[in-house]
Amino acid sequence: MNIVLLGPPGSGKGTQATLLSEKLGIPHISTGDILRRSFGTEQGDRAAGYMNRGELVPDSILISIVRDRLSQPDCRAGCILDGYPRTIPQADALSHILAGLNQKIDIVLDIEVPDSELIARLSSRRVCTCGATYHLIFNPPQNPGVCDRCGKALYQRDDDTEESVRNRLIVYKKETQPLIDYYKDRKLLVTIDGSRSIEQISEEIWAVVSENN
Ligand code: ADP
Ligand code: ADP
Ligand code: ZN
Repeated sequence: MNIVLLGPPGSGKGTQATLLSEKLGIPHISTGDILRRSFGTEQGDRAAGYMNRGELVPDSILISIVRDRLSQPDCRAGCILDGYPRTIPQADALSHILAGLNQKIDIVLDIEVPDSELIARLSSRRVCTCGATYHLIFNPPQNPGVCDRCGKALYQRDDDTEESVRNRLIVYKKETQPLIDYYKDRKLLVTIDGSRSIEQISEEIWAVVSENN
């Protein structure tokens, strides 16, 4: 089963993708995490410039990352895509890539959260290199500054500054929001109210996914 998580920065895509990946036993693919892991290489450092300004990394780079990742054997039973696609060309490329693998998108979950709440969430977000995500108030780790899952030190992302967050919200509305109609037209879209608790959202997502599985 292939699931796409759509929604603005801070809507909870990473948080929900992690929970869903554990339940379904299929990989969680976060293009943001893949890009961050590539920092230090030539392509990674070029990407970091776009990311720190809150701009999108060029489509050609993302499409080739996703093509490589989806052709790995652990994706044969499907995956959860978090943060991809973010543009119409990326969405077109995704359906081609999946068709070439005899697969398709089963469902697109659009997590909706008001802007004021997104800013509060991102300004106190803490992350781990293992992919886990926390919030100082809404979802704190058991021991301050330490990842519950792997024990490593948590850090604040360079792009979780107020200026970058504001720019990401503008970019989301211009480049990514058109995907809502794109997937609505293809009868794949389910809207999720993302302003509730992590548990409530996760229960609703599980109900929707179980119905389609
Ligand atoms: P995204 O991947 O969409 O950018 P994250 O999953 O990283 O979003 O969540 C952004 C921040 O908000 C994190 O600090 C996370 O712990 C917190 N968060 C996620 N879901 C909720 C929720 N339902 N209520 C409150 N805070 C949340
Ligand atoms: P967030 O949790 O705030 O939604 P991500 O970790 O998904 O952020 O992405 C961080 C940054 O990585 C984005 O602001 C963008 O610069 C880059 N990025 C990630 N995925 C994509 C994509 N599909 N297309 C273009 N840029 C991307
Ligand atoms: Zn960790």
